[in-house]
Formats: sequence, structure tokens, C-alpha cells
Amino acid sequence: MSNLDIKRRKFVTGATAGSLILAAPQIVSARSLGSAALGQGLSPMKHGSMKVTEFKNSKIHSYQSPNLTGCVTTHIIETPERLIIVDGQRSVIYGQEIRTYAESLDKPIDRMIISHLHPDHWFGAYQFRDVPIHALKQTQGEIDQLGEFFIEISKPSLGDHVPPVKVVPDVLIADGASETIDGVTLEYKHVTDAESDNMLTISLPNEKVLIAQDLLYNNCHLFCGHGNFEGWQKSLKDMRKDTGFDLILPGHGDNSGSRQAIDDALIYLEFVEGVYQKVSTGDELKAAIIDRYPSYLAESLVDIQNLFLFPKK
Ligand SMILES: [Zn+2]
Repeated sequence: MSNLDIKRRKFVTGATAGSLILAAPQIVSARSLGSAALGQGLSPMKHGSMKVTEFKNSKIHSYQSPNLTGCVTTHIIETPERLIIVDGQRSVIYGQEIRTYAESLDKPIDRMIISHLHPDHWFGAYQFRDVPIHALKQTQGEIDQLGEFFIEISKPSLGDHVPPVKVVPDVLIADGASETIDGVTLEYKHVTDAESDNMLTISLPNEKVLIAQDLLYNNCHLFCGHGNFEGWQKSLKDMRKDTGFDLILPGHGDNSGSRQAIDDALIYLEFVEGVYQKVSTGDELKAAIIDRYPSYLAESLVDIQNLFLFPKK
């Protein structure tokens, strides 16, 4: 068994399935989600919201789920000829909302790309199971190995939002690869030991956009359940040095047109790591985080994170 397998086993077995069920946000009905607060500048949809950024040769449509499910994002890259969708939401209902929106753009859906293994980024990919789904080899393996587990533990709290079967990516993306699609260049990077053990970032150098997904959160609580504080901070420092982008698309929260979100994330991680070393319970850690960041969204992620940081013996 490789180190990666051992770490992955640790991540999953750290929290029991029962405790994960208790921590997951209770979704009573799709309707109740529709009334959640929306960020400024976002166009509300029935469940989430959509924000469109226009470039010379392309557009990016950024979907954000309601706060209750963590303001998780999906981005639709619209080239002159087709649509490329990045990440698939925690819910097949939101996945369908994005699918319906994508079809209204009247261009073929070329592919979906999944950034990492966490189910808030691929449950809704079930609604795109008829298109090629791309991911890193490591992410393909992680979803294949853990997909059923995530589905089973999510059913009691998420109900109709959970896909009936896992959606395993079927096309592999290599670290360092790049491709140009209808004049839009995508550059892929494999980032390790950060918010998740394996993560994909996508740069659009001509548009000066970085699709960071969960390497960056914006005004949302960061999920620190893997405990990779040092590795994540290093990746954020590398991001800060990169002058190739002006707009960052985070995995949770609104798009960031400034680098402030990177510094905010670094400070947040330093704070959580420091408190984590001093306290002995998840409740203490959560109280300190909420006290320090009272306005941050996606509070439910702190509860889920704490199940991994404070595993029941
Ligand atoms: Zn996420």
C-alpha cells in the first residue's frame, strides 16, 4: 500500500459514517434552499446563483450553491463552439439546474472536469454522465475507491440530492498538460497535500484566469479536514507569486478579482492550525473559528472538517 493509500484510509476512517451523517447539513426540501442569501452581483436561480464573466473569445458562467451546502462552485467555460464544465456540485438537483442552464446556451457540452475527490464537487456530475468526465488519475482512483462510501453516508441527510451511483471520471488529465480548444488554452496542474491530497487547477493564460477550485475559498470557511496545513499554505504562497492571472475562481464563494483572498486564506489556515494545536475538542475549535470569522459563509464545512480533525476513538 502506498503512502497515498494510507493517508486516504486515514482520512476516511478518521470519522465514522454515523458522525458524518449527523454533521451533514439537513436539506429539508429544494425549496428551502432557494431562499438562501445570495452574494452581490449574482443572478439568482431557483436553487443557486449564476455570474457571467465575459472575455474576448469566451465566457465563464460561475454557479454557486446556497450557503447551506457551502457556496460550492461550478464553472462553465463557453468557447465559440462548445461548453466545458468544471466540477459538478454536491447535489443532483443542482447538477440538473446547471445542466438545464448549460443547454440553454445552445452549444454542445464537450466535457466535465472534476477538480478533486470531495463529493461536493462530483455528486451532481451524475447529470452529466453522458459526456466525457475528465480528472487526474489520482482523483479517478479516489472517487472509484470512495464513491460508494460518500453516497451511503450522505443519503440520510441529503436524500434526493444524492446520486444513485458514483460517477467515476473516464478521461485522464496529466500534470503539466495543456490544450487549446476553439482558441481557449487550458493549462492543467496537479497540486498535492493541500485542501485535498490531490487537486487540479486550470489556468486560462489568455484570459488571465486561474480556476483554483478548493485550493482557494473566498469569504467561506476553509475545509481543513485533511490537516495538510503546511502543504496548503505552500501552494497558496506559490499562487501568490504567480502573475499569470487577474481573476481567481475559487471552489467555494464568489470569484475573486483581487489577490486579497489568497492572503485571507493564508491567515485563516495559520489561525486554524494554531488553535487546533491548543484545543482538545471540535466544539472548541469551531467556537474559536466562528468568533474570529463571524461573517464567513459555509459554516457546515467546519462541522464536517472537525469529524476528521477530532476522530472518535
Ligand atoms: Zn469543496
